[in-house]
Amino acid sequence: MPKHEVWTSVKIVAWTKEYLSAKGIENARLEAEWMLSAATGLNRVGLYLNYDKPLSDSELAVYRDMVSRRARREPLQHILGTQEFCGLEFEVSPDVLIPRHDTELLVTQTLLRSPPQASILDMGTGSGCIAITLAKRLPAAFVSASDISSDALSVARRNAIRNEVNVEFIQGALLSCVPDRKFSLIVSNPPYIPTADIDQLEPEVRDYDPWTALDGGADGLGIYRQLIPAAVDHLLPGGWLLVEIGIGQAHDVAECFTSIGRYQEPFVSLDEQGIERVVGAQIKERL
Ligand code: GLN
Repeated sequence: MPKHEVWTSVKIVAWTKEYLSAKGIENARLEAEWMLSAATGLNRVGLYLNYDKPLSDSELAVYRDMVSRRARREPLQHILGTQEFCGLEFEVSPDVLIPRHDTELLVTQTLLRSPPQASILDMGTGSGCIAITLAKRLPAAFVSASDISSDALSVARRNAIRNEVNVEFIQGALLSCVPDRKFSLIVSNPPYIPTADIDQLEPEVRDYDPWTALDGGADGLGIYRQLIPAAVDHLLPGGWLLVEIGIGQAHDVAECFTSIGRYQEPFVSLDEQGIERVVGAQIKERL
């Protein structure tokens, strides 16, 4: 960004669009506008109302730093510090997976099956986005959220406060941290990327999302193989287990539910792109 120019919003957004596009970033104009909003404290309409006003030196310094971080493919969400999910705002950091739009389907499918006073566990909560959204939409439910990472849980706790909901947070792996407890629904968006594929991911994901939030073992299915049988002992009568899955995993995950013989026929639901994204099943009544 040449130093001796007079930088107005219009000029700087145009310059950044070219610069970041050349670095392989797709929505460079929009991202430039978001960073400029954050640097100036103006919303996007405000930016264009002040389109010919030169930026101050301090605004420029903050903005320059953001653009150079983004040019190194640091995710925009880490630079801005937040991500929207199901209409709520979540703090994000390198300690948690950035909430994905695709994961909203898991929330929708859970809401369809949840009685108002359900007890719900979100296993591997990360930022807390699933648990907190469920707690917001089901005010009479009791929502718990677990994660193996205490750093992730700190972020999730702050997100519960930010969104004014009560969620019980528990540290631990899988279901060992909730011994003797049973839930109406257990939901999870576990790590499901096959280890060898992680290298192929976009730099924003590969280099900045926590490895433990991505790595699903050799074939990506490691957590499902443990969680699906383990959940049997943690579901109330009529309870459901719902999981998000990666591309091409529906058949194997559904098979995992079926092979145990303790669940009803699993359902598979598709995301907006027609990709199988959520698999779930209801526990069979014991005879
Ligand atoms: N539950 C969190 C989310 O969906 C974190 C998932 C994860 O870390 N794999 O965003």
